[in-house]
Amino acid sequence: MSARAAVVDLCRGLVARGLVVGTAGNVSVRDGDTIAVSPSGVDYASLTPEVIGLHALDGTAIDAPLRPTSELALHVLLHTREGARDGEVVLHTHAPASTALSTVVGEVPLTHYYAAFFGGAVRVAPYATFGTPELAAHVLGAMAGRTAALMANHGAVLVAPAVEGALDRAGYLEYVCDVALRALSTGLPPRTLDAAEIARVARALDGHGQPR
Ligand code: 13P
Ligand code: ZN
Repeated sequence: MSARAAVVDLCRGLVARGLVVGTAGNVSVRDGDTIAVSPSGVDYASLTPEVIGLHALDGTAIDAPLRPTSELALHVLLHTREGARDGEVVLHTHAPASTALSTVVGEVPLTHYYAAFFGGAVRVAPYATFGTPELAAHVLGAMAGRTAALMANHGAVLVAPAVEGALDRAGYLEYVCDVALRALSTGLPPRTLDAAEIARVARALDGHGQPR
């Protein structure tokens, strides 16, 4: 599948999973020296591969029939961060539990071992207006040593290693946030896991499931 077609499928998948409302959120896939990125404010049901923009790694348009996502700078920063790899996917959602939790904590408490999917406790990037370079920089900082971050009073963002499994990662992130939000909502102090256990889980998840 082309990177452009993958962006369309991922956008539709975010809608199907209830992780975005309306035209909220955006998606990109790195393909060699290019980034395929969703257009700004376009109904996901109407997307076709031809309208997905192709951009160089500095964000310059190569073939972009529509105006790109307002978060293009964020996608470019994440696809060119230290350790970035070809084929990676960036998903930005406005999923409800992630967004609600982003307004009350500075990092997601380690209430569920799935935090290991994201390298540990997911941090909340300070608020800045959507689509600004400030927001992109805040998110990059919050992602140090992690593959996900929440954006204060806004949503969530994650980097997945490949198109396959990327939507599941987005679902796991929302689940981790939902569990933390529900635990905090009891008013009781949640029991949390420590970093050593998260590291142990990360190793276990690596070989988990059926042999490849
Ligand atoms: P775009 O439609 O421009 O991608 O904006 C949606 C969004 O979530 C901004 O943060
Ligand atoms: Zn957004």
